[in-house]
Amino acid sequence: MLYSIIAIGDELLAGRVVDTNSGAIARLLEPHGLELREVQVIADTPTALQEAMMRALQQVDLVITTGGLGPTRDDSTKQTLCGIFGGELREDAAVLANVERIMLARGLRLNALTRTQAQVPTSARVINNEVGTAPILWFDLPQGKVVVSLPGVPFETEQMMQRCVAAEIAARFPSPDSLQRLTLMTCGMSESDLAELLAPWETSLPPHLHLAYLPQPGVLRLRLDGRHPDAAFLEGEMQHYYKELIDIIPEWHIMATADSTPAEELLRRCRRDGLTIATAESCTGGTVASRLTSIAGASANFRGGVVAYSNDVKINLLGVKSAAIEAHGAVSEAVVRQMAEGVRRLTGADLGVGISGIAGPGGAVEGKPVGTVWIAAASPAATRATCYHFPGSRDRVIDRAATMALLELLTFVPR
Ligand code: ATP
Repeated sequence: MLYSIIAIGDELLAGRVVDTNSGAIARLLEPHGLELREVQVIADTPTALQEAMMRALQQVDLVITTGGLGPTRDDSTKQTLCGIFGGELREDAAVLANVERIMLARGLRLNALTRTQAQVPTSARVINNEVGTAPILWFDLPQGKVVVSLPGVPFETEQMMQRCVAAEIAARFPSPDSLQRLTLMTCGMSESDLAELLAPWETSLPPHLHLAYLPQPGVLRLRLDGRHPDAAFLEGEMQHYYKELIDIIPEWHIMATADSTPAEELLRRCRRDGLTIATAESCTGGTVASRLTSIAGASANFRGGVVAYSNDVKINLLGVKSAAIEAHGAVSEAVVRQMAEGVRRLTGADLGVGISGIAGPGGAVEGKPVGTVWIAAASPAATRATCYHFPGSRDRVIDRAATMALLELLTFVPR
């Protein structure tokens, strides 16, 4: 079933805010078989909303608006929807109670302006916004069409879609097909090399299966999507072709058989094998440690990290030899090896990683341009170091270096 989104807000058009809500809504409705036909990004004016709504309702049976529900004068969505679909704005006791509850929880006073949040069109059904003050409005229109009006605050939109709105929409517009999805995370192979390798397999796919290539820095997500009225038949097909896919791709290029990040996968494997990790980071400034610790339960396997930015810290804390720095520079194979081994020694971790590089924009030296990053991974059995050259800005170099460091560690723990 096709649907349309209208993202409302002058700040979206001015480029000051990026429309992330449409993507979030689309992601959450896709598993229910709803396909997004169009996103219209419009100014917060009655005329713009009237025009966009008419256009959308001519094309689809479900229209979702986001934004413009607030109490301020520039938020006119409620009044305009009332004008289009009839009825009048009236204070709703349940909505008012919710607004008061939210304001109290935030330590704020309910003033006359905030109170207007409780005014809702009599032509709409209200879905209680459990995480914000702007009520969610559901309009049932003639010919089975539906308009749902969501708040603009991304957290509220996403939370409420997840909590109940996506399920309500799915129940109202059930998909005749079963939708299934299997993901394979790969690394170390470019999208084009992989596409070439998989071309014969891809052509053999039946029409109800489709492979999507979703590249991210350092990793490539392959998503096999299936859609068929017979769920059991589809599951058999999905398993069959997914197994073939795994068999075609060389084992060492497969990072995970579920949708996950390198940090999640590393922690999963370490948890399974009872291994611990420690990090010694220079140019990445703790990014690897941060990615690991952002995952709940990381403490069972992540022992700690040292941000060894200065040579002093590399020498005094990690035991890097000053002679190595003098002879090869801080960005060198010898130094990252000693950082990885040093942090293992320091923390007692099974696995250690050492990262030192030139993130830029300055700092390049002869033979080491901006983007040069040495990464070493150390285990009880061996230490392996690799030199990378990452393109792009400082942020991108740091991001890529952190990802590659996690992928280097992964090579020490079999899948
Ligand atoms: P509130 O009642 O909290 O004001 P609202 O429904 O009126 O909610 P807006 O006032 O339009 O929403 O926007 C609230 C915040 O959400 C603003 O910071 C705005 O920049 C942001 N926002 C609005 N629409 C979007 C969108 N489509 N994607 C991402 N952010 C958005």
